[in-house]
Amino acid sequence: MKKNEIVKFKIIDIGAGGEGIGKVDGFPFFIKDAIIGDEIRAKITKVNKSHGFARVEEVITPSEFRVKPRCPIARPCGGCQLQEMSYTKQLDFKENKVFQHLKRIGGFSEELLSGVTEPIIGMEDPYHYRNKASFPFGRDKNGEIVTGFYAGRTHNIIRGTDCVMGVPVNQEILETIIAYMNRNKIPPYDEVNHTGVVRHALIRYGFKTHEIMVCLVINSDESTTLGNVEELMSELKKIQGMTSIVVNYNTKKTNVIMGEECEILWGKGYITDVLASGESGEESSKESSKESGEGIKYQISPLSFYQVNPIQTEKLYDVALEYAGLTGEELVWDLYCGIGTISLFLSQQAKKVIGVEVIPQAIEDARENARINEIENVEFMVGKSEEVFTKYYGEDFVGEEPSEKETGEAEKVHPKVVILDPPRKGCDESLLEAISKVKPERVVYVSCDSATLARDLKYLCERGYELKRVRAVDMFPMTVHVESVTLLARSKATQ
Ligand code: SAH
Repeated sequence: MKKNEIVKFKIIDIGAGGEGIGKVDGFPFFIKDAIIGDEIRAKITKVNKSHGFARVEEVITPSEFRVKPRCPIARPCGGCQLQEMSYTKQLDFKENKVFQHLKRIGGFSEELLSGVTEPIIGMEDPYHYRNKASFPFGRDKNGEIVTGFYAGRTHNIIRGTDCVMGVPVNQEILETIIAYMNRNKIPPYDEVNHTGVVRHALIRYGFKTHEIMVCLVINSDESTTLGNVEELMSELKKIQGMTSIVVNYNTKKTNVIMGEECEILWGKGYITDVLASGESGEESSKESSKESGEGIKYQISPLSFYQVNPIQTEKLYDVALEYAGLTGEELVWDLYCGIGTISLFLSQQAKKVIGVEVIPQAIEDARENARINEIENVEFMVGKSEEVFTKYYGEDFVGEEPSEKETGEAEKVHPKVVILDPPRKGCDESLLEAISKVKPERVVYVSCDSATLARDLKYLCERGYELKRVRAVDMFPMTVHVESVTLLARSKATQ
């Protein structure tokens, strides 16, 4: 088989990247946008030693799981990978991905996994869930200013302002900005020559508060490069919910979207959103406390990390809260705490929560979030989890049940629960080693990469922990990403 050859395939499996897998004489091909069960004709694009790649030319017999994508640019756009797969099948695929990683990398038996795995939590309406989006600006072939999305694996901008993942107001904001740029001849950024001004527009939206922030990332260190800023602001302010207009300066020749410095042009420089517990279960009613603004408030600045799917975040944190099994008496460590979202969420039901995060700005936000919610039983520390936790308990700390006295005033109280929510690369081994020495009763692991999760669980389960519960939560419908929560408990034999 050679490049450009057209071959007929029956799609028999799904790859980790969401591609359909078909075989020719036992030799596997990965085919983007092909759905398991499809019969297709595809053009071979590349052949390696052990596998090849192909592109769908024609769907001969569509799979029962194939659906029409809602978005007209679903195929070329690099944002989604699974829009042509039915949502039920997407959920199956994600649940299975976690299961297979835990089995293959974690070494857990199928029997154990079947016993501890709980059903994946999907969305009722898996569209328009993103509270944040950044849109690159550039020019099309005719020199017109465009904004939209990068085509998969490239930096070519595909025109598109009404993404089905984002909130509808994005379109109005982007059109306002483009009209302003055209009127005032403000050029978009040109990546190749490192010239022009407007690089990206970052838009954040508070699902509960309906507050909007627009942050324009510009290739300059002065907002005057944007021309008549007053005019731009007065246009943007007309959009209902506009709360904050910010510029971010990024003059570097880099793929990183945001520069380090922001200047507030108008408004308070952040938006607020609310996350509520217990109201977001599958049975929840629309008239929940979520609507009335109860719950924990979070201030979100342009540079802060905040979960992008607020509807599923509540469900994810509810699972974490349930797995933590808090009674109000325990010390909880929230490692990799970001702006303290999980810490504050759990604090009502714990004696104390200590959050650790490596980015100082995030810790400032976390402290501010504790203050605005009047939460006093939380403490935040800046640093790497593996260093802060290890140093705090030191070499000599022996993990065991603390006596009554110790749980009272003693500084180094034995932690009952440790929450882990690391980035994709997972936890540093030295942190896992420290945890296995300090011996918290329960470890709740929130993960955005089930392969590194499986590796880390294997380590802990070889050192006195048992896998008790696992549940995937679909935070990113239409994409191949899957989030999960796992509960480990100290096994009785080793306590
Ligand atoms: N728990 C938070 C954030 C999770 S994202 C939430 O749910 O919103 C992971 C976080 O880990 C990021 O904020 C990242 O800055 C931080 N991080 C990355 N490496 C770290 C390390 N070694 N120690 C502590 N924090 C780290």
